[in-house]
Amino acid sequence: MIRRPTILRLSLDFAGYFAAASAAVAATRLNGGVALIWLASALLLGRLGTAPRRHWPAILVTCALASALATSMFGVGPIAAPALALVNIGEAALTAWLLRRARSTDPFQSLDWLVRFVGAAGLLAPFLSALCGATIVHLATGGDWTSNALGWFVGHSLGTLTFAPLATFLMRNDLSRWRSEAGSHHTRETVLLLGLVLITSVGVFGQSRTPLLFLPLLPMILTTFRVGRFGAAASLVLLAVIGGGCTVAGVGPIALMPGVTGAKLQFFQFYLAATVLTILPVAADLARRNQLFRALRDSEARYRLLAETSTDIILNLDPDGCIRFISPSIRQLGGYEPSELIGRNAAILVAPGYRAAVAASHAATLRAGGQPVSLEYLGVARTGTTCWIETHARAIVTDTGEVDGIVSIVRDISARKALEEKLAADALTDPVTGLANRRAFLSIVDRQMAQGGATGCIALFDLDHFKRVNDGWGHAAGDQVLRTFAEVARRTLRSGDHVARIGGEEFAVLLPSSSIEQAELVCERLRQAVAATPTAHEGFSIRVTVSGGVAPLSGSGDEALRVADMALYRAKAAGRDQLALAA
Ligand code: GH3
Ligand code: MG
Ligand code: MG
Repeated sequence: MIRRPTILRLSLDFAGYFAAASAAVAATRLNGGVALIWLASALLLGRLGTAPRRHWPAILVTCALASALATSMFGVGPIAAPALALVNIGEAALTAWLLRRARSTDPFQSLDWLVRFVGAAGLLAPFLSALCGATIVHLATGGDWTSNALGWFVGHSLGTLTFAPLATFLMRNDLSRWRSEAGSHHTRETVLLLGLVLITSVGVFGQSRTPLLFLPLLPMILTTFRVGRFGAAASLVLLAVIGGGCTVAGVGPIALMPGVTGAKLQFFQFYLAATVLTILPVAADLARRNQLFRALRDSEARYRLLAETSTDIILNLDPDGCIRFISPSIRQLGGYEPSELIGRNAAILVAPGYRAAVAASHAATLRAGGQPVSLEYLGVARTGTTCWIETHARAIVTDTGEVDGIVSIVRDISARKALEEKLAADALTDPVTGLANRRAFLSIVDRQMAQGGATGCIALFDLDHFKRVNDGWGHAAGDQVLRTFAEVARRTLRSGDHVARIGGEEFAVLLPSSSIEQAELVCERLRQAVAATPTAHEGFSIRVTVSGGVAPLSGSGDEALRVADMALYRAKAAGRDQLALAA
């Protein structure tokens, strides 16, 4: 940032302040008193409000010189001029300092700011400067202190309140920002409306027959509504310049009034004050609303972006379960266009078997008072294909405690479900043979006993001299032999029977609802088939036999296995490659 303002910029400050001060003093300083409308403070205030704080000393000194020069040329002369310059500059500096301290929002954008502005620029600063100014003028010219103080106060207060908004606008470069936002259509409308303010003001103040003082307010309010703060500021300046100019020149409805020009000008000032205090709050409130509207629009856009780019589906349902909003990711997951789902019941996205569960969860979410409720179910796409879905739903509870629907996040969890199912299956399967493992077998037996009571049989098989296979042909050959047994068992057993690998080379078979005789028959067939089926390994043929113990189901699965194991032991002891029945 620039450390010091440039000479060119300071020259402009000097010229601007000098012009404003000279015009006020030359045109409105009646009867040798003080200037009745003072614009220079508005200009300086706008400048200070938009310059960095470290530029202030240079600007203040420049404008003090301009003030002293103008006052000594057109006003009270060179003796009092330096003192009056100090008072004028001090007034603007105090106002700018008070406003700078309160600078939480843009100028003229909130009622709070406006109240501070009126307090500082319209009351406190001109009050203090009026006391000092009137005293200096009194000492220099011997004029009436009271009327000078009053004139000074009103002139400075109104001058600043009326002209500072426009000065601030122009210096903050708000105008070009506003134009680039508004576009050419808006520019034309602004020119037309300001033209209307101009014509009305000329019409009201340029004639002396009818007192239509209220009339300019109509186009001014219209301009404020349509064009905002800039429209308000520009209309006020138009009214002040035209109305003030005509009144000083002795033209217009105020000039009709009886009394001296000073009194007429003071009436005009109060007229202007009433107008300023009507227009500026409307403009400030409109600006605040626009700002809120923009903030709301931005936040809406942000949330829309979130909803539209999320891979999850974001769903908003009414309390009856009808879709109010569904995010575009439903295209990928469900094959629907979001628009065709609006107003339809969300049940069409749920597989029929899960609709009752989903409806119950919906009701639970409505009752949960904003607590999240989760559910997994099978969703169905437009094509009829299903996939696993997980939802996290929450009721929307209004300020008055009413439940106004539900928002849920819907996610495709097919991949996770598949993995879970695979892990669950792996935990129950023997990886070498693909048969059920001991845990799976015992749970099958328990389920069988729970369903069918203690009917059926259990058989335990153990390969004979399996150690020799491993020792002679290697571990891989042993594994191959285990797989051969599994294939033979699958082939030989009946469809309702179950076979499992429950240990190294031990297999168990469940024969539900078989008598011991039927079980023996089936197991004997299996034993023979094993003996008759060699395992091919690296060009060799490995033959094994198997021994088995058969027992009726009783007690628990573990108990039945123990009894079958005792029978198996006897079959081994009796020479292997045979069955034994439990005693
Ligand atoms: P028996 O007729 O008395 O049952 O003799 P066996 O040699 O079969 O008896 P034992 O129980 O002593 O030997 C079982 C062998 O099974 C021992 C072990 O090395 C082997 N074994 C256990 N699990 C596996 C496996 O997963 N793969 C292979 N290849 N061998 C296994
Ligand atoms: Mg063995
Ligand atoms: Mg064994």
